[in-house]
Amino acid sequence: MSKIFKTNRKEMCVITECPFCGGTSEVEVNTEDYFDYMDGILLVQEAFPYLSPSDREKFVTGMCDDCQADFFGCNDEDEEDCSSDNDEDDCIDPFGLLESFDDIKF
Ligand SMILES: [Zn+2]
Repeated sequence: MSKIFKTNRKEMCVITECPFCGGTSEVEVNTEDYFDYMDGILLVQEAFPYLSPSDREKFVTGMCDDCQADFFGCNDEDEEDCSSDNDEDDCIDPFGLLESFDDIKF
């Protein structure tokens, strides 16, 4: 049973709260993709291929842009450089936070 197509319509706005500074961020996603992710059918990068790495981080951990920049040492402006020059994992999820935060929120 595989999905035949995705609409790629971002019709749902997810509000996330940053675990570090308490600031809120908004991430727009497709509703079906959201439920596929929440049901554990798809990984975040599979469910939301259209989100930037920082938006995915926001969605999963709630971490806002500012805290991501502080924490990972990179931000949206030089994101391209970051991921092309380095192993993407170094920049995005150096300590496996994506998994550990998964259990805390929602
Ligand atoms: Zn923050």
